[in-house]
Parts: sequence; structure tokens; C-alpha cells
Amino acid sequence: MARPVEMRRLFVSVLVACVVSTVGVAVPAGAAGGAHRESDSATTTVTVAGTLRAMVVHDEDRGEVSTHVLGEGARTGVDYAVEVDGALLPITPVVDEPDPAQVGGEVTVDVDVPVDVLADAAPAVEDTGELTRAQDVSALTKATNAVPLDAVVVDAERPVVSASITAAAHHVTLVTVRSDGKRPSDSLVRGTISDASRYWSTATSGVVRELRVTGSYSLTYNGYCSASPWSLWDQAMSVSGFDGSLARHHLVVVGPECSGETLGVGTIGAGLSTGGLLAIYGPSSETLIHEMGHNFSLGHSNLAGEHSTSSGSTRFPSYEYLGFYSPMAGGVGDVYATPALDTAYQHLLKVAPAGRLTTVPSVGKTVTLTAVGSASGVQGATFVDPHSGYRAYVEYRSGLGVDRQAFYAVEPEGLTSYVNTVLGAGVRVSLLDPHSNDVITFTSPTTPRYAALLTKGVPGPVRNTLVGWGGGYTVQVNSHTETTANVTITPGKSRSSIVSANSKAHYGSTPKVSVGVDSIIPATGTVEAYVGGKKVASKALPTSGVRRTTLNLPRTLAVGKHTVELKYTGSSRVYASTRKVTVTVSKAPVVVKTAVKNAHIKKKPTLAIRVAANAVPTGKVQVNVGGKKYRTLTLTKGRATVTLPRGTRIGKQKIAVIYKGDKNHTSSILRRTYTVTKQPAAISGLKGGTRTVTRGRVYKDTFTVTHTASLQRRTTGSWSTVKTLKAGKHVLKHRAKTTKTVQYRVVIKSTSTRTAAKKTVTLRVKK
Ligand SMILES: [Zn+2]
Repeated sequence: MARPVEMRRLFVSVLVACVVSTVGVAVPAGAAGGAHRESDSATTTVTVAGTLRAMVVHDEDRGEVSTHVLGEGARTGVDYAVEVDGALLPITPVVDEPDPAQVGGEVTVDVDVPVDVLADAAPAVEDTGELTRAQDVSALTKATNAVPLDAVVVDAERPVVSASITAAAHHVTLVTVRSDGKRPSDSLVRGTISDASRYWSTATSGVVRELRVTGSYSLTYNGYCSASPWSLWDQAMSVSGFDGSLARHHLVVVGPECSGETLGVGTIGAGLSTGGLLAIYGPSSETLIHEMGHNFSLGHSNLAGEHSTSSGSTRFPSYEYLGFYSPMAGGVGDVYATPALDTAYQHLLKVAPAGRLTTVPSVGKTVTLTAVGSASGVQGATFVDPHSGYRAYVEYRSGLGVDRQAFYAVEPEGLTSYVNTVLGAGVRVSLLDPHSNDVITFTSPTTPRYAALLTKGVPGPVRNTLVGWGGGYTVQVNSHTETTANVTITPGKSRSSIVSANSKAHYGSTPKVSVGVDSIIPATGTVEAYVGGKKVASKALPTSGVRRTTLNLPRTLAVGKHTVELKYTGSSRVYASTRKVTVTVSKAPVVVKTAVKNAHIKKKPTLAIRVAANAVPTGKVQVNVGGKKYRTLTLTKGRATVTLPRGTRIGKQKIAVIYKGDKNHTSSILRRTYTVTKQPAAISGLKGGTRTVTRGRVYKDTFTVTHTASLQRRTTGSWSTVKTLKAGKHVLKHRAKTTKTVQYRVVIKSTSTRTAAKKTVTLRVKK
């Protein structure tokens, strides 16, 4: 927790009575700001495994205003350390910041340690390259003055956090620090702890039953105001034996007040079931409540500067600590009461009793909100902001009850001259940034801006409408009483963006474009594709799951590059969007198929050619025979036929078919052989086998021979030729004069140019 740098001037003029320290030197940046060690000496890499700790630090370089960027993930202003068995080694991750969700989990890092430092502090580590003992870690931290060592995170796991919320006391190990002769009084320290205990018990509706001091220790640590908190905690753990691995255990270090901006620091926990380390500089209840909030995983309460309501807005200025409606704002002094816990944080910590928060549906909702801090009633309305994707919260801060002595209620104009924003009671609209757990309060677009709608106790007209960042929502205050406000909340639209990529297709096949629509609120409706201004495809998005579909473009898209404009037509909840992609249609490959018929000696074979593709190829094919160009043919419907040269000898013949391609198809060559064989002789139509004929009747059969043949007959003994037959049609006739069985056969003899054939019929005679 810090008092913002420029705020000191403000408090000098406005809040003199409450500011504990307005002059003096700030805590050196090196103590909390993560300065790098500068050394010429050689370094060696040492592996450290332990628990990843992180603390929110006040980053001096950030100045009074930072920019909040949509979707930027890392927590800013965080320092890291690895806790090994109760000792802390500060580190600076040099490659990637750990995921905030990994804080509190097991981590393995490789740190760069100067060789001479290691040799002095932990000589045994040089051999193993592993830092595993608490005393070696402590010695190294001491030797480096707790300046963080550059580290590469090798492996980090998320902490195991209990899903169920258990109402339980939180244990406090108290270490009171004496520094340069000063030590906070025990009664003040105890009073501070019981204030914080009461606050958190109420704020969490009893889930944190109390902060119970279960051990109390003293530590002398001179120069503690400028010391690194890691080093301070390292010493405090050593004297108290505090075990950071225990759930709901907190190490609370309280020292004397320090002049400067830093009032306290705390490690970031993972919710109410973990614990943490914190230190406060002087026994301040406000500060202890705030740092305990960090132990519970909370970020800071910030104030948005002027925000754009345009759907294209991706950033806005943000003032850290200035959202004075929260314990997680900056320090203003214990003269002011810490305000009731934000409904956003009650929701985040899962401590809001049933019915305390209401969910706003997409069509909007009108709801009467009871002031935050009341014993009952609906105190917050929440929905996912369609613009940012962050959860939005609308709540009523009445400036009464718990908040009566809060800074925002007592000094509504306390920030006006500083950031031109009026605080005061009214309806507060904020977003919870899930990356940092910061709550950001939005302000009206007026001059001055107002941090709460319908601000009470402030002169001037009523400000009762707020349009959120990027137009994500509208909040309208309809009426209010001292303790309630009636509001209408209307969520707006999400931006959308089309996710797609250039694609390729061959001519004749269907060019496909995969189209996804990204948006905070899931997109419904239609995606369309246009080529040359003409709609060529359209499809409805799936209504659940990933909003992605495939558009089929026309198969007739010509060879070449096409700019395809993709459009998402939008819905009542999601803005339309467009994107251009390039679809490249290239010439399609073809398959050349051939069939050779009648490849016999002394015959002219025919070659049938088919050039096949999805579409019908046109153009010419060249036919080579025996390596020489023979004919060029024009395809008709992808086909052509040619008569090949007469076969002169038996054997293989080489041919090649060369398709020359057309504007849509690539060229292609098919090389093949065909075999010239003897002409096949055949006897067709003659019924073979055994036949029956009645005596006195004529058996008759018609047949055809392909070549010169002889008709032969046998009654007994050998065959004798009846007659020689020319190629062509003939008739076999036999009159059955006797009952004797007779055989006929037709014989074609084999020659050098033809094969042989033979067919026999046996005739039995019936009486
Ligand atoms: Zn803080």
C-alpha cells in the first residue's frame, strides 16, 4: 500500500490533520522496486525450488497515471521471491513473468548468482548447483542485500486452492520490529490487529472468523524502513518459525512508522484459504486491512480517467489507488474509516451471502440496490461487460453506516483539484480486471467527472447516467432514498473480429474458407463471403461452442488470386465485423488414362485417351509412338481416340500421351507400353459337348470362325476333314441315318500371327 506520490501535496492542503507523514524521503526504489544487481563478476546458475511469492509494490516510475490496456495480462508492479523452507530469495524473472495464477504454487527457477558471492555465502552450493537449504538461501539473500537475482522460471505450478469456502479463523504470527531504537507500542499493535480482524470478519460475512494472534515475537532490524521486505520477512520467519505453507496463516510484521510513501506491503495470496506475508510501517488499521486484502488475492482500487464509449476503444487512463470506495485504495490515514468491502471483492472471494448480488441478463434489468455494508438486501448487480469481458459491478455507496466516516463521503471534493473527479456517495460502477484483481471505478464524462452517479452531498446537477467503456453498458439511476437506489442496467454490444486465414484451392474443387467470429458475448448470426462485391457464400454460425464455420466458395472461381471479403452480419448483442482474405486458385492437376484395344499383329490398335480432373479439361494431347511424335489430338469432353500404327511384330510397344494443359489445368505426361500379341483365333456359336439328335432328323448348328479352319468328322478311329472353312459364318449339318454316334470338330491351326482354336461336338442318336 502506498500513498500516491502526487497525493502528498493534496493531503498537505486538504487533509493536514490526517496525514501521518508528508515530508521526508521515500522508501528507496531499490527496496521494493526490483532494481537489478550490477556486477562485473562472473555468474553461475543455481537451481532453486520452492514456493513462488509475489508482492504488490508501489512502482515509482509509473507516476500518477498509467494506461489500462484491454487484454494485457501481467500484473504491473509485482516483485517476486522463492520461499525455500521459511527462507526467501528475491528474484526478477527475466524471460517471462509468471502467470498471476501461479503465485503461491511450487516453482523451480534457475538464478544467476555471482560466483564470488556464492563462494562466500554458500560454498557447498557451488558443487551441486542446487539451493535447497533455508540457511543457504538466507545467507545468499543477506550477501546480496536482497537485491533480486535474475531468474528464469523453469517450471511453475498453480497453487492448490480449496474450492470450498470454509469459515475459519486466520492465524497471525506477529513480529514486532525494533529499528534504530524505535518500536511500536504493543497496545497499538494489538488494537490494529483487532480492528483488521473486525473489518475482515464483517466484510467476509464471517468466513474470516477472526484474525487470531497465535504467536508473538520481537525482532531488531535497524534500517528497516529502507530494507527489502523480502529480507525483513526472511528474518521474521527465522525468529518466529513461521510456516508459509500452512493455510490461513499470516506473518504480520509491524515496525515503527517510516517517513515516505510506502505504508505497507503484502504478498498476493490465492484467495481466503491461503495465507501470506505482510509488513506495515507503523501500526495503522487502514494499512493492515489493505495488506491483508493482498494476502487474500485482492489488487488495487483504481479510478478510470476519461474513458471512450466508442466500441473501438482499447485503453483508458487509470489512476492507481484512487478508487476510494474500497479498502484496496491508497492510504489516507486512520482518521477515515475503511469503506465496506466492494461487492466485486465479495463476489471474487465468494463470501457474498445468497441474494446479495444479482445477475443482470443480456436484456437488462431494473433493480433496487441497498447500500453496500447494509445487513441485508441486494447490494450489487453484476454482468460480464460485453466490451472488455471483465465482470462489471454496480453498487450503491450511501456514505452512511460503515461508510459514514469514509474518505469519499467526508471529503467528496478531495480529488477535484488533483484529477478533476468528484467522489461522494452514489451509484458506483466498476470493472474487476481478472489479470490483476484490480477494481476500476468509472466516471461520468462531465467536467468535473463524477465517480458515483447521482452524487449526494455535492452541489450541481444530478448525474444519473453512465455509458461504460466502449459502450459496453448503460447504467441509469431512476430514483434513490438514503439507503437504496433504483437503477436500470442495460448491457451493450460486444465487438467482434473475424478469425480466418488465406486459403488455396485447385480449379474445379470447392475453395473453402474457415471463418470464426471472436467476441466477448458469443456471436450468433451469419457469416458471408463476397468476391468482387458479389455475395458468393453464406452460412449460419453454430449456436453453441466455438463460433466457427466453413464457407464453400464457387468451384468456378477462376485460376488466380481473389480477394474475398468476409462479413459477420452481427446480432443484437454483437457488432458486425469484416475481414479480407486471399483465396488462391491454382491450375488443377489431371490424371491421364488410356486404353489400347486390338493390339495384335497385322492389326491397327486403337488408343482411347481420357484426361480426368474435377472439371473437364480442354486442349490438346500429343501421342508419341516408339519415341516419335505420332499425332496431336483435340480433346472432346476430356476424351480423344486415335488409331495406332499396324502391329508388325509381337512384343512391347512404347507410347507416351502428353497433355498440354489449359488455362485451368496443368500439363501431364503418361508413358506406357502395350503388348502386340498374336491375333486370337475363335470359334463362336458352335455348341460343344454331347448333343442328342433323333434318328431320321437333321442336327444343325450355326457358327463363326475368325480364321481359315477345317471341319473334321470321326465315326470310328481317326478324324477326317469334311471341308475347309473360310473365315466367316458356317452351318454344321448332320442327318442321323443310323444310330451310330458321330463326332464333329472345328480346328483353327496356330500360325506365327494367330493362336489356335478347337471345338468338338459329340452327337448321340435317339431311336
Ligand atoms: Zn497495495
